[in-house]
Amino acid sequence: MRRVARSTFTIDLGAIRRNAETLARAAGGAELWAVVKADGYGHGAVDAAWAALAGGASALCVATLAEALELREAFREERILVLGPVEDLAAAREAGLELVAADGCVPEGVRVHLKLDTGMGRWGLSELPAPGREVVGVMSHLASAEADEAFTRSQIERFRVATRHVSGRHVQGLTPRHVADRHSRGSRGLTLHLANSAATLRYEDARFDAVRCGIALYGISPFGTDPADDGLEPALRWESELAHVKLLQPGESTGYGRRFVAEEPTWIGIVPVGYADGFRRDLTGTDVVVDGERRPVVGTVSMDALAVALPRELPRGTAVTLVGDGVLIEDHARVAGTIGYEIATGLLTRPARAQRVVRDG
Ligand SMILES: *Cc1c(COP(=O)(O)O)cnc(C)c1O
Repeated sequence: MRRVARSTFTIDLGAIRRNAETLARAAGGAELWAVVKADGYGHGAVDAAWAALAGGASALCVATLAEALELREAFREERILVLGPVEDLAAAREAGLELVAADGCVPEGVRVHLKLDTGMGRWGLSELPAPGREVVGVMSHLASAEADEAFTRSQIERFRVATRHVSGRHVQGLTPRHVADRHSRGSRGLTLHLANSAATLRYEDARFDAVRCGIALYGISPFGTDPADDGLEPALRWESELAHVKLLQPGESTGYGRRFVAEEPTWIGIVPVGYADGFRRDLTGTDVVVDGERRPVVGTVSMDALAVALPRELPRGTAVTLVGDGVLIEDHARVAGTIGYEIATGLLTRPARAQRVVRDG
């Protein structure tokens, strides 16, 4: 079959749904909120949100107003929480969004989550918002739940202590009327939420009333390890093909800068995918799968192409898997010296570069 695009991303909604179910179980009694910012970590925000909701998520979180408005078009009823700053309060109000107040200024006419800085203890609930403001949640964000246990435990403890006095109903400004609100299931009337994916998977006492999971929903490990270790399934496959095959003689090179020079006669395949597609320039040396075998990317990755060392002459059109068939986003992240988050959100799934296919497997 002739490929219609230079490469194809296939997103498996079934995998996202099952990951959501896994996270919902890990969350115990806490609600699972699906983080679908950055276009669902490169997977497609609306598709990812749909699958996460099907898997038990009860709210959606994004970083920006524009992301939230796009989701609101697709999801009329769902809770949508904007984690980052929002300038246009009227638009947020009209779309029924929930906002985060990270400084003392609590906006009016929208549901608000107060963000505590438990990493630095900048401000706490001693500074309460004016009465009448609709505070529905209190949150914080962990700085290093995937790596630093002592610091994470101290953040959890600070959050617990800082929110202890909202467990009663006497705190003015944080009104108990939200107890009856169908949108606030927290036992305190306010929904307390702290955990990201890593904390949901590793720290039982970080779960509180709701957990905010992003990376793990997509089957990418927050720890940079094999996602299967945490019962997670990768949801993204990235495939292309050999567009060109050539034999390099000793001394001949491939790619800019002549970073790869053949020492012996070497078959090289050219794949029409480069850093403008999200296959980063620092991925030289990473593996891709060619004709069922893991093979190294050699030479400098260019904007629109990469070269792979072949075991033998292979026909043009041979399938190449860039992510999938055992090659994990985590593997690429390790080679590039970064995290899976950055690899995933850097993928260019726009039609001008690639084809994006959604399946429900
Ligand atoms: C991105 C984000 C999350 C999700 O983090 P993951 O590690 O992807 O699970 C949770 N909370 C906040 C405030 C975020 O910005």
